[in-house]
Order: sequence, then C-alpha cells, then structure tokens
Amino acid sequence: MALPKIDVPTYETKLISSGKIVKYRPFLVKEQKLFLMAAQSTDEKETVDVVKQVLNNCILSDIDVDELPTFDLEYLFMQLRARSVGEVVNLRYNCNNIVTNDKGEEKTCGSLVKFDLNILDIKPTIDEKHSSKIEISDKLGIMMKYPTLKLINGITNLKDEDIDTVLDVIISCIDYIYDENQMYYAKDSTREELIEFIENLQQEDMEKIQLFFSTMPKITKTLDFKCKKCGYEEEVTVQGIQNFFV
Ligand SMILES: [Zn+2]
Repeated sequence: MALPKIDVPTYETKLISSGKIVKYRPFLVKEQKLFLMAAQSTDEKETVDVVKQVLNNCILSDIDVDELPTFDLEYLFMQLRARSVGEVVNLRYNCNNIVTNDKGEEKTCGSLVKFDLNILDIKPTIDEKHSSKIEISDKLGIMMKYPTLKLINGITNLKDEDIDTVLDVIISCIDYIYDENQMYYAKDSTREELIEFIENLQQEDMEKIQLFFSTMPKITKTLDFKCKKCGYEEEVTVQGIQNFFV
C-alpha cells in the first residue's frame, strides 16, 4: 500500500553574489545518513562531495552548485543547517589569558566561556574596497569571477605558497580581459596565454588582484569574549563553516 507523502517545509534565502532567491528544504534523514558516512571518512574530498550532494538534494531552485562562489555555498549550507538541525549553535572557548596565581606563578586562565550563537544572525560582511574589476590602465583591465567548488576541486595539490598554484587560481578566476576594443574571454584563451598575460603584470597590478581575493564577501561573526573568572575581554571573530559547528 502506498504510504502517505510527508510535507516538508520550504525556505528562501538570497545568494550573496547575485542576490538571486534560492528555495530550499531542510536536511532529511537520508541526508543525515550521508553526513554520518562523511564523518567516518578522513578524506577531505569525500566531505566536500557530501556537502555538495546535500546541497544538490535540498536546493529546490535551478542552481548549479559547482558554479557557485565558495562563500555562497558556505552561506547556503549554514542556512540549511539552521533550518534542519537548529538555529542555535553552542560555541565554547577556553580563556587564554595569562594570570598570576596566589603563589606568584604565571599560568593560563583556562576558564570555559560559552556562547549561544544564532546562525540566522550571521550576515556576510562585504568590504567596500572590494571590486571584481582590476584596472591596469584606463584602457586595459581584467574582470574577475569568484572561485567555485569546481575550481578548487580542479586544482590538485592546493598549496598556498606554490607560485604555480597561485597563478592557476588567478587565471581560473579571470572572467575576461578587456581593452578599448573588445573583451577577451578566458574560456576562449589557452592557459599559456593567460599565464603569460599575468606574468607581464606589474607588482601593483598583482596587489589589486590580491585585494580582490582578500576582500571577497566573508561569513564571519564577531563575539565579545568576556571571562567571568579573570575579567579578560577580547573580540573573537568566528569564520568558516567548521568553526560554527564545533
Ligand atoms: Zn579568564
């Protein structure tokens, strides 16, 4: 006998990059099962695949998860988590303040400070210096696009210090190069042509490209840390999916 269908609530959120409305449903038991499998794995790629799979299952709008900027993915995933598991996460930090005890010995305070953080209160921060347009001269420039999961998966051996990795990330994030006559789309150019173009930039142009990456929208939350035991106060900035789910 056919069992009755279960109604699942749907929610909406906005993409940070484009403002596009995305409809989604919460995780169900079948997605929880995927998470349990991922939790048992030590393979980082497998975890990313599970996050992708869950997003694909739960997003009801027509969106290619592979093509979304990573910060949009992170934000979407947090909204999903809030609607599925609960809006509040309990964060705990140990006080790192160095205090002197009765005997005059210095030691770390170590007192536990708890925060109840509502995920839905976390809003993306957008730096006003951020621009996708890199102006090399008044006639020549680069239009950048955001790194996606596909890009990060495509670059094997991602090492921050490796100059080849850095160049590969940069050229993967070029949408097009323009001059006064036309636009030259990166997808129509070879890797060698793009690398050569970037290698011929001046240091100050490279700094503008670095600024594009360093000022991309971020999902962060600043907490006012205050230790009841020793009175130490500090602002703590939480960033990155994993840090919101400790
Ligand atoms: Zn303390």
